Amino acid sequence: MLRTYYRSLKYLSRSVRRAFGTFPRECPLCGYHGKFLGYGYPYVCDIYCPRCGSLERHRLLCIAERERRFFAGRDVLHFAPEVAVRSLILAGQPKSYVTADPFVSGIDRKENIEALTFADRSFDVVVCLHVLEHVDDRAAIRELYRVLRPGGLLVAMFPIVEGWDETFEDSSKSSQEDRLLHFGQHDHARYFGRDARQRLAQPGFVVEEFTAVEPHVARHGLTRGEKVFVCHRPSEPKPILAGDITDREAPPVARTLPEPVFLLQSPPSGWPLDTAAQPPN
Ligand SMILES: [Zn+2]
Repeated sequence: MLRTYYRSLKYLSRSVRRAFGTFPRECPLCGYHGKFLGYGYPYVCDIYCPRCGSLERHRLLCIAERERRFFAGRDVLHFAPEVAVRSLILAGQPKSYVTADPFVSGIDRKENIEALTFADRSFDVVVCLHVLEHVDDRAAIRELYRVLRPGGLLVAMFPIVEGWDETFEDSSKSSQEDRLLHFGQHDHARYFGRDARQRLAQPGFVVEEFTAVEPHVARHGLTRGEKVFVCHRPSEPKPILAGDITDREAPPVARTLPEPVFLLQSPPSGWPLDTAAQPPN
């Protein structure tokens, strides 16, 4: 028994030493080079940029943005706005930028994501990171689809257990202790499984995935296999003109899940980053 406690203390001591970082990393958001700090509950070492406050998911979105340029010239809604992501979006030069959240002060709009007050087709891009596991995700996804214009994008991230076919949710697990035990956080309502893709596709989105792979994982302190889900609201078909055989024979818009079409396997062009182009800290 004493030996077991001694071993636990040894692991605790090692963890404390690693609280201030293990390996030097690069933050693609602010250009920081050095060790990342720990963050969260339960505590995770080596994930928090001490300069800009970015976490793994923010840095993965930054790399995806460098590949895809989601924001340039577009009307962007940012739900539950994180400071690091706000800087990233503004550096992408959107046409307009609106922040929304039900609780946080100092933002543009107080909004319930399950019943948004924005008009239909108000935005080109919606960014929604680590929100859907807290709320009625089906209602929220319907609302996000509604406020996007045809051709628009929902950029979403959330915790997902790829080993599970189905999302685990149980409304009887309502106490903070139960939610912490079953969903990993006191205010989470579910753990998504692989069927999260079908849940995203339900209102009509076509879902792509952007995955964290090497060399980015080690270089930027990302979580292996973490995904950015990029959900496309299909463009509406052109109106059919009399005698226009081509339009009449056009295939219907695909609504099925495609294979992931962009898995980043190599550094994006222009790497290493031009630090002059970095967003402000
Ligand atoms: Zn940073």
